Amino acid sequence: MAVLVTGGGGYIGSHMVWALIDAGEEVVVIDRLSTGFRWAIAPEARFYEGDIADAALMRQIFSENEIDAIIHFAGSVVVPDSVADPLGYYDNNTVKSRSLIESAVKAGIPYFVFSSTAAVYGTPDVLEPVTESVNLKPESPYGSSKLMTEIMLRDTASAHAFTYTALRYFNVAGADPAGRCGQSTAGATHLIKVACATALGMRPSISVFGTDYPTPDGTCVRDYIHVWDLVQAHLKALQRMRAGGGSLAANCGYGRGFSVLEVLDAVRNVHGSDFAVSFSERRPGDPAMVVADPSLAKEELGWVPQHDDLAGIIRSALDWELHLVRKNSY
Ligand code: UDP
Repeated sequence: MAVLVTGGGGYIGSHMVWALIDAGEEVVVIDRLSTGFRWAIAPEARFYEGDIADAALMRQIFSENEIDAIIHFAGSVVVPDSVADPLGYYDNNTVKSRSLIESAVKAGIPYFVFSSTAAVYGTPDVLEPVTESVNLKPESPYGSSKLMTEIMLRDTASAHAFTYTALRYFNVAGADPAGRCGQSTAGATHLIKVACATALGMRPSISVFGTDYPTPDGTCVRDYIHVWDLVQAHLKALQRMRAGGGSLAANCGYGRGFSVLEVLDAVRNVHGSDFAVSFSERRPGDPAMVVADPSLAKEELGWVPQHDDLAGIIRSALDWELHLVRKNSY
């Protein structure tokens, strides 16, 4: 059987494709290459360029390949963009996912792994690691767009022979340990990526968005997780569903948080040089602190993270950034 990866040319999707191939799976990719890259898709994967909401294309893909599982990454991921363009986010993340799920059900695809997010939690009531059972109250259209998709999956799984795993990602960073792919999005806005680019002189400075949050140093706290551990959790989810496990939503994080200032310090230490930092207003849609309680993923999926080390994550992100600089990919 083959696994269909949507958004396989994007940051996490491209790592997923390599991890599946490393695990001996047959892989099919659909990506419209709006933010992803053709070069980032492992040559061993069969590639279709197009949109997940194109039902005729999806029928073609399902008829040309023996697919039993979909791992769905395709979507938009920038919280402040979603605040500025909510309808665009609901279209790209929610409406198109609805269409994909419908295509999957019509084709009788039994297993679905969904790329969800810690943004479904918003700011937890207490500033401590969140379990899956806390109230879901996203603070951005991005978080809402993902939560709506989780709800569609839940209801679809009740009505049809369809099992899903929604993995709620915390803050993903780093690159493939074998150096085959990394975070390559032009104009990326994520903290570790921007800090690495700044340390390498590709940006003049980095802004810290907000210093008056109710956190120990006033800047936001996040649970940064290595992309390779994250894609391994998807493999575990796939194995579990194929072995008869039921639907599940599980956190993917390490259970500890770092503030923005701590991350910048760590980038300075790993790179061994200083860079310009400015302080600015809070960014819209940012909760103060979001840290995972990963117990469920460990217990249910048998997930054993291997890269829980902020300096190691940053080293890996820096190495990839350097690779992009050398390739002139800026
Ligand atoms: N952040 C920052 N400067 C930047 C990028 C991000 O201060 O240039 C902060 C952002 O406000 C948030 C944290 O870093 O508190 C993580 O943001 P990121 O965009 O990496 O991920 P998010 O948590 O929004 O998914």
